[in-house]
Amino acid sequence: MSTFCLKGLVKSGNSTKTGNKVLHNDEFYEYCGVIHVHTSDSDGTKTHPEIIGIVQDMGLDFLLFNDHMTLKHKHLEGWYGNVLVIMGYEINDQDNHNHFLAYCLDEVLPEHLSSGEYAAEVARRGGVGIIAHPDEVRTSASLPPYPWTDWSVRDFNGIEIWNHLSAWTEGIASSRKLWYFTHPRSFLSTPTPKILRIWDELNRERPVVGIGSTDAHEHKYGKFPFKVKIFPYKVHFTTIRTHLLTRQPLPADFPKAEKEFFRLLTNCQVYFSNYRVAQADGFRFYVRADQSRLIMGETVKFRADMNFYVELPENGEVRLIGSGEHLGVKTGRTLEFRCPGPGIYRVEVMKRGKGWIYSNHIRII
Ligand SMILES: [Zn+2]
Ligand SMILES: [Zn+2]
Repeated sequence: MSTFCLKGLVKSGNSTKTGNKVLHNDEFYEYCGVIHVHTSDSDGTKTHPEIIGIVQDMGLDFLLFNDHMTLKHKHLEGWYGNVLVIMGYEINDQDNHNHFLAYCLDEVLPEHLSSGEYAAEVARRGGVGIIAHPDEVRTSASLPPYPWTDWSVRDFNGIEIWNHLSAWTEGIASSRKLWYFTHPRSFLSTPTPKILRIWDELNRERPVVGIGSTDAHEHKYGKFPFKVKIFPYKVHFTTIRTHLLTRQPLPADFPKAEKEFFRLLTNCQVYFSNYRVAQADGFRFYVRADQSRLIMGETVKFRADMNFYVELPENGEVRLIGSGEHLGVKTGRTLEFRCPGPGIYRVEVMKRGKGWIYSNHIRII
């Protein structure tokens, strides 16, 4: 096993993770982590080793960095104990709009490309592209919004359905500003209906993964000597998380693990959750076929007696969405819904009036 030391952190040549995350005695390994994290390489406030250490202490399984327009610490990616650390970056256009998370690239793309050009170039180089905070709406002059505006682009693999920083900053111009600063997680409600609708529409054509991300920076506010950290990384990492399900543990070899991670992600074997509402590990949404469970991202042939099954770690209010339509609501911990026919199906789970869990789609043909 080769190791690489970085200010006390050990980057391991092989992972020690061999599937200790099996839950519910089912056949799935579950990996839970945080996506879209900034460091002091751009406008974040901590270094890679500091943030990796935080994620290790919190027991998360993966960490995806996305600094603005730089991959200068690309060489730091790898397994750190049980944490898979991946270096992507965040691209923007000349108007600082159309932010795009790019992964699996060896170098940053030339600057001054349009959104259509960089999305196509990421795809051409075999990378993975995810549209960032597409529906950001803010009216503050000091904090303008950075939405995705070019929906003619088709070269992307996924969309951030829920971005914690976007959701938080949309509220700070309100009369409840003090509350927003002192309770940065409590206001998170749900992703917007608009972006959920766009996501459903895109998935009628092809699989487009929906993820939840932190966009963590650990911002500091105020003036010296009264500068305060209002949003520590650790607080960010107890908000929106993305969970990956797989029948095989991720490989110990990092290049293979990264490849498999993005194969599963772009295949939509994913759900995302708000940890502030409750721990979501163990959530399952599936249909049964020939003794096995088929989950989000998988395609299943329709049968007249087909049901959807939902399992939750604790009670929640589950809404079944079929091809963009609300088909039913049930409350409990283990639930069944009749499948009405071919289509794309996902569930949303609410708890205490807040969005808790959002699955990707199961495709019934
Ligand atoms: Zn951004
Ligand atoms: Zn960002």
